[in-house]
Amino acid sequence: MQKNKMFKFEYSYLSLPKKLYSLSKKEKFPKIHITLLNKDLCTKLDLTSNNKKDMINILFNDLNNTKSFSQSYAGHQFGNFTKLGDGRAIIIGELITSDKKRFDIQLKGSGRTPYSRNGDGKATYKSMLREYLISEAMYYLNISSSRSLAVIKTGEKIHRKNIEEGGILARIMKSHIRIGTFEYASFFCKKDDLKALTTYTIDRLYPKINNYKNPPLHLLKTVMEKQIDLVVNWMRIGFIHGVMNTDNTSISGETFDYGPCAFLNSYKPEKTYSSIDHYNRYSYGNQPIIIKWNIARFAESLLPIIHQNQEKSIKLAQSVIDQFDLLWKKKYYEMMLKKIGIQIKDEEGYKLIDELLACMLKNNQDYNNTFHSLSNDYFKQNSSINNLDFVNWKKKWKKNLLKHTTLKKANNLMRIHNPVIIPRNHIVEEAIYQAGKGNINPFKKLIEIISKPYEYKNGLEKFMEPPSANFEQNFQTFCGT
Ligand code: AMP
Ligand code: MG
Repeated sequence: MQKNKMFKFEYSYLSLPKKLYSLSKKEKFPKIHITLLNKDLCTKLDLTSNNKKDMINILFNDLNNTKSFSQSYAGHQFGNFTKLGDGRAIIIGELITSDKKRFDIQLKGSGRTPYSRNGDGKATYKSMLREYLISEAMYYLNISSSRSLAVIKTGEKIHRKNIEEGGILARIMKSHIRIGTFEYASFFCKKDDLKALTTYTIDRLYPKINNYKNPPLHLLKTVMEKQIDLVVNWMRIGFIHGVMNTDNTSISGETFDYGPCAFLNSYKPEKTYSSIDHYNRYSYGNQPIIIKWNIARFAESLLPIIHQNQEKSIKLAQSVIDQFDLLWKKKYYEMMLKKIGIQIKDEEGYKLIDELLACMLKNNQDYNNTFHSLSNDYFKQNSSINNLDFVNWKKKWKKNLLKHTTLKKANNLMRIHNPVIIPRNHIVEEAIYQAGKGNINPFKKLIEIISKPYEYKNGLEKFMEPPSANFEQNFQTFCGT
């Protein structure tokens, strides 16, 4: 690629009412340097060049990013409503791939914006490495997620608890529109602005909704279904998002904002790792309740445009929310049954799942390894999993399973739903620690390993082992670092 070549971004978001965004520029940084570049993603996005020099040119060339902007949004944070907005991120443009797919390219940690409040608009290098790793792990685990194109060192020292190196993440999403964007438009803008946002969102993400009689109502239903699918998938692999505020719940159904997230080791529904989640609001087991709560906030923000009569509007929105519990139950258990090799659509097997989870809780069993052990010989002999309750459960399970399928078919089903490798918290911490000291190789090695999460190989045992009890008790995650 030629030096300074103009990269053609689009800016469809800027067709929206001006209150929904602010044109914002990144700050000047002393010495930007890409330490990680996602070549696989470059190819997927049709970026013809995938070397670091060209990428710096695409991401940081002012000629390319003439209309970069940050988005306005509000959100319920731990239940409280607040005005927010991109305080440390700008969208440098929208990229259109050859198959006509549109993606936001966002720089996170690129400096102050009109929404920064008292923040510095920056991010630590280490927290951006963490987001890169986990978002890529989620992608390879087959879970809808934002993706990470590159991590950049800014050459700056920034002030947190300690002095830290500054970093930027180049983040890719189908769209950064979130429930909080709708809350902002509904509570702080005119009805026409809310209408414009709704039309834009439908055209961009779900154009088929335009065929329905009441598109806003159908958007509510669609987003509810997307989010149920997403959170069911989080439950599948033991993912705890950690900060499911409405501003971190995407309309596209992509997981994003990986600040305080973590992975479950032993099964415990009330488990939370976040240092600020004092009441376990965002614990593993609360995630279905919270996503329903967030969808109800989405419904509220759409009320002015679902029907002109407020009472009718509430009734219509409520009729959608009322479907949540049944839909959740059905999708959750169907997924969990696949994890034990059974593909049935009736409630007969639900008890089997409840009994397994109760057994795991009682015996402090590792969540992912327990499921994995059902189809893997190495773990079948693992004594920490093989307690009497589990042995008894397995007898019952086998009998039940053989009524529906063969062992071979069940094994195949289990292997695609039960990961061998998840990015366990202690392994991730160690790799980031090494990268922070200047040795990025263990981190790169870990990316390689998490990119094949369903393949069992000898030699990977270290990555499957849960952490020590001491680590598990003391490990905490942090927001907005
Ligand atoms: P998050 O917890 O990452 O979802 O962030 C919540 C809100 O705080 C968003 O509006 C962010 O843009 C903002 N924020 C987080 N960190 C910073 C920072 N260092 N400077 C300015 N705003 C920030
Ligand atoms: Mg956020």
